[in-house]
Amino acid sequence: RILLDKFSKSFGDVRVIEDMTLEVNDGEMLALLGPSGCGKSTTLFAICGIHKVSGGRIFFGERDMTDVPSQERNVGVVFQSYALYPHMTVAENIAFPLRIRKLPEAEVKRQMEEMARLVHIEELLGRRPAELSGGQQQRVALARALVRRPNVLLLDEPLANLDAKLRLEMRSEIRRIQLETGITAILVTHDQVEAMSMCDRIAIMNAGRIIQIATPQEMYRNPRTAFVAGFLG
Ligand code: ATP
Ligand code: MG
Repeated sequence: RILLDKFSKSFGDVRVIEDMTLEVNDGEMLALLGPSGCGKSTTLFAICGIHKVSGGRIFFGERDMTDVPSQERNVGVVFQSYALYPHMTVAENIAFPLRIRKLPEAEVKRQMEEMARLVHIEELLGRRPAELSGGQQQRVALARALVRRPNVLLLDEPLANLDAKLRLEMRSEIRRIQLETGITAILVTHDQVEAMSMCDRIAIMNAGRIIQIATPQEMYRNPRTAFVAGFLG
């Protein structure tokens, strides 16, 4: 499980997250849903260690990760822009996190191929990112994020650059992959349908705070505030 315990974050004098406590259970996919600027990406950056927290603690299981450097946290990330390495093939992109860990080449190849099968891109391994569709690039980004068997998978608006049809397809694909691997995941979105259809629970955020956490059904039936009700439509 991932635990944010009274996490807060300021940039200079401006406090953007205030005493946030959030627990994500093992194997759960949780949506962080809220309007632009409410602090969703800031929360993910704190979990993966790109940002230092201003207050509070971050736990992975029992381990306090608050002061552990980013590269030792083993977090898989997929952001809106996929940031694949353009000069590398699909196979090299997926294998990259294993090669920098100096795994034996046979093992690199085996794990790379296993991930390519999981995300259904076996036939694209020799291509470069520029020769792929948006959805295919997103699959490669997922494979590269998952190949190290991360402690948690962080997805920040992973579908925002896709057209409506691909977005629908990738919604169910990302959920399938999450369920198949059993990985704990946090999906950031400002699309309530995406959150409702993909996630076990939804945390609604506004202005640096969590307003309500519940399953999609509970939240829909019983929104705690007018803000939540308005946000769910
Ligand atoms: P969006 O849906 O638009 O991506 P978000 O919920 O991800 O929004 P954040 O990027 O977490 O929002 O930003 C939260 C607040 O913190 C915003 O007011 C933003 O302007 C501010 N902020 C984010 N990063 C920085 C930074 N490096 N320096 C100063 N302020 C920042
Ligand atoms: Mg953001």
